[in-house]
Amino acid sequence: MAKRQKTHVVDVGGVPVGGGNPIVVQSMTDTDTADIDRTVAQVKLLADAGSELVRVTVNNDAAAKAVPEIKTRLEDLGCNVPIIGDFHFIGHRLLHDNPESAKTLAKFRINPGNVGRGTRRDDNFSTFIEIARDLGKPVRIGVNAGSLDPEVLVAKMDANSRAADPKSGDEVERGALIESAVSSAEAAMSLGLPADKIIVSCKVSRLPQMVEAYRQLAGLMDFPLHLGLTEAGMGTKGIVATTAALSVLLYEGIGDTIRSSLTPEVGGDRAKEVRLCQEILQALDLRSFRPAVTACPGCGRTTSTLFRELAQDIQTHLDAKMTEWHGRYPGSEELKVAVMGCVVNGPGESRAANIGISLPGSGETPRAPVFVDGERTTFLQGEGIADEFIAMVDLYVDNRWGAKETVPAGD
Ligand code: SF4
Repeated sequence: MAKRQKTHVVDVGGVPVGGGNPIVVQSMTDTDTADIDRTVAQVKLLADAGSELVRVTVNNDAAAKAVPEIKTRLEDLGCNVPIIGDFHFIGHRLLHDNPESAKTLAKFRINPGNVGRGTRRDDNFSTFIEIARDLGKPVRIGVNAGSLDPEVLVAKMDANSRAADPKSGDEVERGALIESAVSSAEAAMSLGLPADKIIVSCKVSRLPQMVEAYRQLAGLMDFPLHLGLTEAGMGTKGIVATTAALSVLLYEGIGDTIRSSLTPEVGGDRAKEVRLCQEILQALDLRSFRPAVTACPGCGRTTSTLFRELAQDIQTHLDAKMTEWHGRYPGSEELKVAVMGCVVNGPGESRAANIGISLPGSGETPRAPVFVDGERTTFLQGEGIADEFIAMVDLYVDNRWGAKETVPAGD
């Protein structure tokens, strides 16, 4: 894994982004922001799932006016997650006309591709940035291939077609995206927005183009980068595409905050996008959010269902305990448990975990060695293996992360 790129630190409502701080997980609501009840409920859902920043769309006056009430209601519920406003087209006007909302939001997102054209674009951009500057708010300059200024792109394509050695269409598009991000960040600074108030993103829905654009941006600027594969899609396709794109960049040390743009099924769970970000960071060993179970896939050596049942029971137990352990056993999110199917890889993986069990595969003696911190401590067998092993996991967590009582000195 490459060393993290050095960037400024941007304070987003008390959450530090960049500068080597833990990579921040964020998400976005899909409710009508003017529908305060539903928006509050969804922001809370996302925050409870672990989203450290939540973005809401601010697309009209009703949405803008709802923001302070949303924030107040969330605080009443004990939810202090910073709320980010996502602005397009008329953000400058909405911020100007709704000063309370502007004050309430922890960060503004502007898309330089759709703030108007020509001189109107410059005026609108300036108004937006000046409001952020005067309120001391950070801004994400969020360039997106789907809303790249068509005038800029067409001019670049024309110039390229006349060049002696023309570039590919993707290279031209990438150049336009990067130029838009860099020139907008420079323009914001020339309007007085400090460097430590700027975050940049450059989202594209095609993985190779997205990865290459971020690589180039990372070499050109030291603003924190917000990573995302835009319009990743639904189901397995969305999960795989997001994971692949974000992992390549994170592994190269690029990226300071991430969002996965999954399309949920109708009536599906919006918080899935939060858990995906957490799983990506945990798989890359960049952050820990919950205890992890290492389990083999099973094969012809695991003919009984015992192995799969135990792996499932352990995962269910850890998920159920997570909230309780989070408060009671700080650090227990680092716990690694192995549940393995046979002697081939079982002892090795179990030794590498904090606590692991290697179940007997077909033809093996029907007893399961348990390993704690790399040492084999006991064998389990019979009907009660699952319950006994779960009790051992609980004991391990208590011993390792439980508060140690101090015994008062005697007289
Ligand atoms: S550890 Fe054993 S049971 Fe599991 S996949 Fe490998 S050989 Fe199969």
